[in-house]
Amino acid sequence: MFDHLQHLESEARVLELSADQRHHLTREAVAYTERFYENCPRRPIYQYTDDMGAGILTSPISPGPIDIDEALHLLHRYVDSPGLNAAAPGDLAYIPAGGLYPAALGDYLSAVINLYTGIFAVAPGAVRLENMLLRWMGELVGYPADAAGNLTTGGSIANLTSVVTARDAHSLKPKDYARSVVYVSGERHHSIDKALRIAGFTEVVMREIGMDATYHMRPGVLAAQIDADQKAGLNPWLVVANAGATNTGAVDPLTEIGQVAHDRGLWFHVDGAYGAFFTLCEPGRERLRGIERSDSVIMDPHKSLFLPWGSGAVLIKDRRTMVASHHYSPSYLQDVEGGEELSPSDLSPELTRNFRGLRLWLPLKLFGTRPFAAALEEKMLLARYFRARLCEMAGFEVGPEPDLSVVLWRYVPARGDADAFNTQLVEAIKRDGRVFLSSTRIDGVFWIRLAALAYHTHKDTIDLAIDVICERVAAVLEAG
Ligand SMILES: *Cc1c(COP(=O)(O)O)cnc(C)c1O
Repeated sequence: MFDHLQHLESEARVLELSADQRHHLTREAVAYTERFYENCPRRPIYQYTDDMGAGILTSPISPGPIDIDEALHLLHRYVDSPGLNAAAPGDLAYIPAGGLYPAALGDYLSAVINLYTGIFAVAPGAVRLENMLLRWMGELVGYPADAAGNLTTGGSIANLTSVVTARDAHSLKPKDYARSVVYVSGERHHSIDKALRIAGFTEVVMREIGMDATYHMRPGVLAAQIDADQKAGLNPWLVVANAGATNTGAVDPLTEIGQVAHDRGLWFHVDGAYGAFFTLCEPGRERLRGIERSDSVIMDPHKSLFLPWGSGAVLIKDRRTMVASHHYSPSYLQDVEGGEELSPSDLSPELTRNFRGLRLWLPLKLFGTRPFAAALEEKMLLARYFRARLCEMAGFEVGPEPDLSVVLWRYVPARGDADAFNTQLVEAIKRDGRVFLSSTRIDGVFWIRLAALAYHTHKDTIDLAIDVICERVAAVLEAG
């Protein structure tokens, strides 16, 4: 038996690296990082490769090792090359990606120190750090200092946490679901619907409240609908408003909606996944006034704080409701109960989780908040600038003046079907490879969107986008 044990130990000890081995791996990874950044400006924004990554499957997981060179080669060739080059300034599609370098170091250090951040007593410094970040976000949206919150992996989980908390705060039981009513915008994000379904609300009554011509929910219509539902014996429960709708960037009239919701005893949730961090800059704060009236709000650092994907946040104004929905005391955790700070696992479906606050804390500390505020105000101005440039040119139709940093536009050709033309146009722009734009449909109309949110998107990027658009319009007109 001892022979076998010794043999197993010698195999298993491969997992324990010496300092030299660590240095070697780290050097290779850093060299990869620098090649990646150097290469970025030369890469098309959307890269088509021969096999679009399928080659990764030719190297299956196996008992034997490969070395770091080979692993990084696989990563480069099959994983980081095909598809969207998320590190490029010309990413103006969907909600553009960030990827601040200090956040990558935060992830790295977080994995190295590998703290167990589900529970305060286990990693008190880490939980204090995360709760400090959440209190800072709470201040941004005007929440009281004793609000609760959680750093999530993204906005969808944050919306789910909000829906579940709102459900329990109103003591809704399954027998109540079919007569409970949720009030939403036609421009809500689909993760709201998904959260409701996952939370069991397949039979809930959904009311899409009419929007004005600039895609904002109309508070008067909301009030009338709630009153009618109340009169009809239904149970109006939840209002969800946008602080930056994904399609249009529109911020609903939060002050008025908050008033309507509170006067009638509904839970008021604000989806600020894209928009809520615009409270960092003065014009954004102005636009988002009323966000403090919400009972819950979500905001995605991996959108408007330019973090790599994997960071959302949810804030709940009344901490007791959030704890009531998520807290358990199992016997195997009896040694680590309680403490000065709320534990993340008492505010989330998760127990074990990574120390995800570090990827946010490190950039905020190394840069301070000032450059973030400037960047967000810059993006708001860039969106206005882009829209104004298009307005000066013949043939373009634009959507409303942007609330934040999304512009809707399309080209209306003198002859032929505009939807078909713009479908071709957005594909031609993608193939061109210098900037990346996405399209959508609103009230049946095909629009192209420009979202200025990548941290390295500046005026030169917008000027380039205008040039590319004009060239491609000419090319599609000619081909058509
Ligand atoms: C992106 C987005 C979400 C979903 O967030 P994920 O981080 O992608 O899960 C929800 N609401 C809005 C308005 C969004 O833009």
